[in-house]
Amino acid sequence: MKKTATSSEKVKILLKRLQEASHLSAAAALLHWDELVSMPPQAAEARSKVIGHISGLVHQAALGLDSDGLLTELHEALDEGKIKGKNAVIVKDTWKSISRQKKLPESLIKEISEVTSKAQHVWTVARKNNEFKLFQPYLEKLVVLRRREAELVGCEGSLYNALLDHYEPEMTAEVLAEVFGDLKDFLVPFIKKIKKAKPLISPAKTTGHFPIEKQKEFNRMIAAEMGYDFGSGLLAESAHPMSSKIHAHDVRITTRYREEDLFYSIFSTIHEVGHALYEQGQPQEYSGTPLGEAVSLGIHESQSRLWEINLGLSRPFWTYFYPKLQKTFPAPFSKISLDQFYATINQVQPSLIRTEADEVTYHLHIILRFEIEKGLIEGTVEVKDLPKIWRKKVKDYLGIEVPSDREGVLQDVHWAGGLMGYFPTYTLGTLYAAQFYSSMAKQIVDLPKKVAQGNLSVVREWLKAHIHTYGRQYSAEQLAKRISKEKLNSRYLKDHLQTKFSEIYCL
Ligand code: ZN
Repeated sequence: MKKTATSSEKVKILLKRLQEASHLSAAAALLHWDELVSMPPQAAEARSKVIGHISGLVHQAALGLDSDGLLTELHEALDEGKIKGKNAVIVKDTWKSISRQKKLPESLIKEISEVTSKAQHVWTVARKNNEFKLFQPYLEKLVVLRRREAELVGCEGSLYNALLDHYEPEMTAEVLAEVFGDLKDFLVPFIKKIKKAKPLISPAKTTGHFPIEKQKEFNRMIAAEMGYDFGSGLLAESAHPMSSKIHAHDVRITTRYREEDLFYSIFSTIHEVGHALYEQGQPQEYSGTPLGEAVSLGIHESQSRLWEINLGLSRPFWTYFYPKLQKTFPAPFSKISLDQFYATINQVQPSLIRTEADEVTYHLHIILRFEIEKGLIEGTVEVKDLPKIWRKKVKDYLGIEVPSDREGVLQDVHWAGGLMGYFPTYTLGTLYAAQFYSSMAKQIVDLPKKVAQGNLSVVREWLKAHIHTYGRQYSAEQLAKRISKEKLNSRYLKDHLQTKFSEIYCL
């Protein structure tokens, strides 16, 4: 590096290094995709070694960004106010991510990875046998390791913030406790009311026999109408629906088909396409750098939830798609009216399993997980007490009994996978989605009418112009303020739920 190089020349060098380093991440992502979609089972052990090795190289490449002090020099220039605009974002974001990695010794990263790998295996057995005690020592170990990680990373306020920041930069447990608390205070009595009410239109029976090939065709049609670019992506199958960015020109999604249940694949596809459109909408020239990456998991989830909930569960969306659905699957839909279909996809029923929960009760599943994992990290909750705490919270929030740990504390893989600070991003996504959608509906003239005519490009273009195109140029909080003139709050989601379900349940 020449001593005379200007800051903007140095940023160019940094960008080049970031993009080179991202090739390794792309290779790891592709191997991981293959692992979940098409790898033969006997390849599991070898694959995990290959992915482990490449992940190590990704980590080294990240640390190598500053091997000659380039990043440190740029960071100093940033502090002196010499770097502005997009360049400032690139330097600030890269510095933050490298600083976090530098604070964590390799021995800790390795230990977390080893314990996680064992914990996931034990969790599978524990869940199958409904035996929390089996899983307990592994979860205890993981909590200790994540606490150590949080202490090393450091943060203000709750220790949980150091973990949360990894998925949702700049969000804090304190803000979450307030926003989630507000939402909970609304949801608990609202759900009680719904439980006592009768829907205006009775739901229909919609199970049946839906040939997988026809489902695939229908899902591809919806994805294409939403604007998913099949030239830069593909729709495959995996046990758990997902979207995976290999590269800006290679954003893949999966769904899962159940022959008797058509809705499962459709709503998963809508959700994952929402994620993929976010990736496909980011500036391609900045792929692999902070300006071509998602802001946070919460903002990522806002893109999938806006399509899935605000559109996919709305009447205008199905005004357009329902005749197509009836044509493809005449039994049973030719005998079910659009109104009845709408009532059917929008039933509210407190249930035990998070991934099967409706859009109203879902957030209480997330809030209780947030409260528990925050307590674990802060040291106010002990792992051995989790089954009992879980039962009490489900009873208090959703009004139902948990018959077994399999349907309670053992249902999700997240904690076994070492993910703590991750759950809140699901509800954050829905909160942001409601807030963004409200602004979109004000700015796009006749939005419901346009959606009902199948004009979904107005939605996609709006999201691209207001969110996708910026990469990480704005933080989640800045985006919320730019779009809705307000910081994140629960009012938009509460209003949406109140209006929609008061009509459906005649409240
Ligand atoms: Zn998602």
